Amino acid sequence: MIPFVSPAAAALWEWIPSDSSVVFGPLALSKQSQGVDIRHRDDTGFDASSLRSMALTDLRALSQVDALARFRPNKASPNLVRGWFYITPDAPNMDAALDALFPGGLADWYAILSGSSAPISWQQYADRQTGMYRNVATLNEPEAEDVARAGCHPRCCTRQRLWTVGERSPETTIEKSVVPCLEPCALLLELARREQKTRATEERSSVILTQSELAILDNLFTWALEHPDASLREGDLSSPGNPRRILLLREKLLPWLPANALSHAH
Ligand code: SF4
Repeated sequence: MIPFVSPAAAALWEWIPSDSSVVFGPLALSKQSQGVDIRHRDDTGFDASSLRSMALTDLRALSQVDALARFRPNKASPNLVRGWFYITPDAPNMDAALDALFPGGLADWYAILSGSSAPISWQQYADRQTGMYRNVATLNEPEAEDVARAGCHPRCCTRQRLWTVGERSPETTIEKSVVPCLEPCALLLELARREQKTRATEERSSVILTQSELAILDNLFTWALEHPDASLREGDLSSPGNPRRILLLREKLLPWLPANALSHAH
């Protein structure tokens, strides 16, 4: 029996070039003589002999936790475990492999390619929230934009954010990947809820810093982001050490950070 080939899988199989690899969310895909090689995007260029060969049945478990065995709530996060590869022989098999490693990635890629779905705006999304999330709609546009830029930062997610908020330049496939994000995810929504609640309930302080002190602060941001607390789970946004919260604070201070500190922190 000929296996069913979904239009999305057939289109992606055709789209992968024969002479180079493409970055697809946290993955790299490249055509080989035996089929399509799937691996972590940061393992592009490594000889397969230095990587572990995986079976299709191993891939879902692989995507569930990071290298420290912490649950990965966002399967588009770059924190996918490295050091493995899987050769998928045909489009239906690739469909199954991608569904295990990066659920929804292929469907969203195809939705934009085929024009069957379009991204929404932050305000449309916020306005339809209810219950504990209903107040996120009260964040003004610059506040919501700070949340989006921090929560969707390339350190946290490989999807290209196409849903819109604010006026600063949109994300590109170069800093992210060809897999789009059409509306905010649960992690982003929780970050927005915390931000709205903090702004509504906490007292503010003012502090005056010199340019040198701001440069030190930016170095501290970079250090904290590069040395995250290994005991913290990605989804634990209540912790002040969560990278998304550090990025959000940095985003708020960005207009005051010295230009020379910005260049190496981006
Ligand atoms: S909302 Fe942001 S963090 Fe969440 S999946 Fe989309 S791009 Fe990634």
